[in-house]
Amino acid sequence: MTIHIPFDNSYARLPGSFHARIEPSAASAPRLLKLNRALAETLGLDPAALETQEAARWFAGSGFPEGAEPIALAYAGHQFGNFVPQLGDGRAVLLGEIVGRDGQRRDIQLKGSGPTPFSRGGDGRAALGPVVREYLVSEAMAALGVPSTRALAMVATGDQVWRDTVLPGAVLARVAASHIRVGTFQFFAARGDDEAVRRLADYAIARHYPAAADADCPALALLGEVATRQAELVARWMLIGFVHGVMNTDNMAISGETIDYGPCAFLDVYDPSTVFSSIDRGGRYAYANQPGIAQWNLTRLAECLLPLIDADEARAIERAKVVLAGYAETFQQAYLAGMRRKLGLMTAGDGDLQMAQDLLGIMADGKADFTLTFRGLGAAAADPAAIASVAQGFADPAPFMLWAEGWLRRLGEEAEMGRAEAMRTANPAFIPRNAQVEAVIAAAVENGDFAPFETLASVLARPYEDQPENDAYAIPPASSGEAYRTFCGT
Ligand code: AMP
Ligand code: MG
Repeated sequence: MTIHIPFDNSYARLPGSFHARIEPSAASAPRLLKLNRALAETLGLDPAALETQEAARWFAGSGFPEGAEPIALAYAGHQFGNFVPQLGDGRAVLLGEIVGRDGQRRDIQLKGSGPTPFSRGGDGRAALGPVVREYLVSEAMAALGVPSTRALAMVATGDQVWRDTVLPGAVLARVAASHIRVGTFQFFAARGDDEAVRRLADYAIARHYPAAADADCPALALLGEVATRQAELVARWMLIGFVHGVMNTDNMAISGETIDYGPCAFLDVYDPSTVFSSIDRGGRYAYANQPGIAQWNLTRLAECLLPLIDADEARAIERAKVVLAGYAETFQQAYLAGMRRKLGLMTAGDGDLQMAQDLLGIMADGKADFTLTFRGLGAAAADPAAIASVAQGFADPAPFMLWAEGWLRRLGEEAEMGRAEAMRTANPAFIPRNAQVEAVIAAAVENGDFAPFETLASVLARPYEDQPENDAYAIPPASSGEAYRTFCGT
């Protein structure tokens, strides 16, 4: 079967300083572990063609399909607040871009296929565990309705990678609206290459925010668009209890998609200071810090764009500040609107934010599960008798019962048409629970058993539906008393 992928590689046509060309690497025994058939179809690709051995070799980076122009992208970034002038794709290769059936242009990137000029000391490889993790969690995020990079395929390379121990190697074929990061702008700005910053801004505008081209200051409009998307994105994270874990400026996409699933994880018990990543010792990227960190990152983007905003730096800063101030407002609005949906409030009231914050405070004190509590409220909105079973999730049910009285009173003041259904679509039953993700990874890595992966992936594909047969996946872990820890390394 000959496979035709209609690549159109606009990023590869940018100047040479934007990327480095990549040669195929040798994978010993490429084997397809999973193809996302539905995504392949959205992209306009034939799933059957991508299930061939030839495609498995491409996905492993061992030879490239016709029309691909494999490149590693240059970027810089602030890592935990410290600026690193050159990072770049050290373990990722952009195969090229395709325009899908929906008219959307997307990157197809291989993560873990071998070294690039940006690898420095690293091996450019990925271990199977983190690949399984990114596949599961990024697809779960998409199903939850959160903008995200997607997983197209997962292949085993047949090679071993050396981490703390020897692990099976794998590659994730990832699909993204683009891989332009805040750090991509920083790469050129740090070199004082204003022309490249301008070129990148023009490219980002044309690709993601074409209306900005007509603004009186396109760079400022670009900043505003990115800030809006980022505010909406982080609000969605907060509303489902997602902790990204490594919000460095190189891990923040201009497109507004969630990108780089390393140490990310979901809250079980609601605790705003939750940090999962083993390397985040200061808690910089704790759950509650995420909205502020996104604003910090946007400020770094604004600094890169200053020369394009106004030749007079002081004036450029003033103009950028106005736009950045809009971020906090957009975030608050998106978060409050989302909280209203989660609480089943069909109309806006002055006390709504307070009501949500009161509940969160009681959840934190009562060590209640974030996801189960909100899902339970949906049931309680339909049948107030169900409040008692939600209350059982709290160490001390009394404060919650008191809160629920006020909440039900508030609901009673509104028409309830469609409320229960609306709440179901705002409060997922199923999220990728940490213990379940770990169990899936262990089965895949230790036994080559992907049945648990398939089951969990299919449960997470329908997160807002009741799935009585899969209730075991909705239940939080019994507390082990030990904090869950995640690791960056792929
Ligand atoms: P991350 O922590 O995923 O944001 O990655 C930070 C930087 O380290 C990026 O430039 C990556 O490309 C690079 N990197 C991470 N893992 C590897 C690896 N196994 N080999 C080479 N470079 C890597
Ligand atoms: Mg990164």
